[in-house]
Amino acid sequence: TYDYIVVGAGTAGNVIAARLAESGHNDILVLEAGVSNEGVLASQVPLMAPTLTPSTPNIPSICCDAHASGSDTPYDWNYTVVPQTHLNGRTFPFSRGRMLGGSSSVNYMVHHYGSSEDYDRLARITGDSGWAWKNMRRYIDRHEKIVPPADGHDTTGQYIPSLHSTRGILPKSLPGFSHAIDSRVIATTQELSAEFPFSPDTGGGNVLGLGWAQSSIGGGTRSSSATTYLNSVINRRNVDVLLNAQVTKLVHTGKIGGKPSFRGVQFASGPQAPTTNVFARKEVILSAGSFGSAQILQLSGIGDRTELSSKSITTIVNNPSVGKNMSDHVLLPNNWLVRGTESLDTLLRDPVAFGAALDQWQASKTGPLANGIPNHLGFFRLPSNSSIFATTPDPASGPKASHWELLVSNFWVNPSLPRPDTGSYLTLTVALISPTSRGTLKLASNNPFQAPLIDPNFLATDFDRYTMRESVRAIKRFTGANAWSDYIIGPVGDLAAQTDEGIDAYVRSISSTIFHPVGTASMSPRNAAWGVVDPELRLKGTEGVRIVDASVWPFVPNAHTQAPVYLVAERAASIIRGY
Ligand code: FAD
Repeated sequence: TYDYIVVGAGTAGNVIAARLAESGHNDILVLEAGVSNEGVLASQVPLMAPTLTPSTPNIPSICCDAHASGSDTPYDWNYTVVPQTHLNGRTFPFSRGRMLGGSSSVNYMVHHYGSSEDYDRLARITGDSGWAWKNMRRYIDRHEKIVPPADGHDTTGQYIPSLHSTRGILPKSLPGFSHAIDSRVIATTQELSAEFPFSPDTGGGNVLGLGWAQSSIGGGTRSSSATTYLNSVINRRNVDVLLNAQVTKLVHTGKIGGKPSFRGVQFASGPQAPTTNVFARKEVILSAGSFGSAQILQLSGIGDRTELSSKSITTIVNNPSVGKNMSDHVLLPNNWLVRGTESLDTLLRDPVAFGAALDQWQASKTGPLANGIPNHLGFFRLPSNSSIFATTPDPASGPKASHWELLVSNFWVNPSLPRPDTGSYLTLTVALISPTSRGTLKLASNNPFQAPLIDPNFLATDFDRYTMRESVRAIKRFTGANAWSDYIIGPVGDLAAQTDEGIDAYVRSISSTIFHPVGTASMSPRNAAWGVVDPELRLKGTEGVRIVDASVWPFVPNAHTQAPVYLVAERAASIIRGY
């Protein structure tokens, strides 16, 4: 028996484990289905991140364990989505980290909080002003630690120091390797300043505009929740971490105050292995992520009664909201053929050049591999007179929040199409930031070792399709700036389409996910008829369980989701500990 059992040593789980352990008053068990992050080179070298998961932008297999593009990896749950009705019935990988650090150990390290309006909206939706930006900002101070970039360049004007912290636990930095296209990007923000204004900092609560990327990288190496939070407490006697321990369900431990309590969990190391039960004196904290937590709830008899009985599971708490309301950012990579050899494509195609870059990283933690995938990103709104607003109310979190995002990469990035054997490329990736489509996470069966049915239901609404189409038109205006005229040769493939129908067909054929699912165990007001957890993250209708991970965000914020998850977890820890 432990005071607390944390299910999942992922992004949020390790924050909870560390903050509860550092009080010294609690003993904590962390159960993680995956393996250790120790010694996993691709989880340390920033540009090797895509090789950890099945959808890779074609980084050569020399860089890590022999691993061909698209194949399963030992660090991922290797899930795929169900055929997507609005994407030509396609299916594709939906990565989730399965190791210490969870997705923070395999993600692409973009690190920023989203719009202040996302947090204010969360406070409005839940009726808890503690989620408002005014309050949540303070957790930035505990969480992040801005450090110099890997190349040590002067970052003046590339971010606003007063919006950030140098006192927190997680090292983060501005880009650590400059690309030849960086000056063209900045020149475009000057030339087309009305549509693509420069932002001095998209990472401190004001997202609109295009600026320098901030990443969870310190000293040229990935910062994950395992290398930071978990490492800070791993040697304490009051923390036990069990690897290869997959939780198969919550254990029903009777009734308290008329409500079913679940102060235990069952786990096993594999489908044929024996199961073990462990119990918590205080609470079980589910931090298994948007898919894992919703799957465990349903396996435990907490979910939609009709769906559960169709899988021969006895319902203990009938809550139809479990596994519903999933939202995610649709990803659309757009490639242009460019002149010269200044893109990273040559390096990524050539094992000898890649080996030399890896040697440089090993020796000094510098060079192209010490850097993340984009050096610039920006957030934009549809024009307010867009025709779609005649039929769809603006779904953005507020007037300073965005509808779509642009990420600039100096090489071929495209999970849907392999890198051509020749040529240099520019990639402008678009992400749909305020989607109105909602998806589901359902059980395929009552077997905990069978992958759940993941249906993000991408591009199911007119608004989502309209925004993707107009964002493609916008990035073509971006590349039409004089800054690119002597560089870009032309768009690749169907990106050349001009008509609504042509662009829509292109979008349907290429789009996939940027891996930001949330909402499957949404927060809602205490007495709401919908939702899965209350504003203090207690599982509704039960006793002894909280959920702390991406699943509790009721809508996907204007951010790559790790930093919003870290802030939620920091506040959750302070709620639990009462500080
Ligand atoms: P996770 O960090 O996924 O943690 C869940 C943990 O629970 C995992 O360790 C998992 O193995 C474990 N687990 C699950 N089920 C069980 C079970 N039954 N028993 C025991 N353990 C279990 N965000 C960004 O901000 N920037 C990016 O650049 C970015 N890029 C991404 C790229 C990829 C490939 C992926 C996959 C994600 C990316 N994200 C990015 C998203 C971001 O990483 C996630 O939103 C965030 O890390 C989710 O945190 P979490 O705590 O909810 O879940």
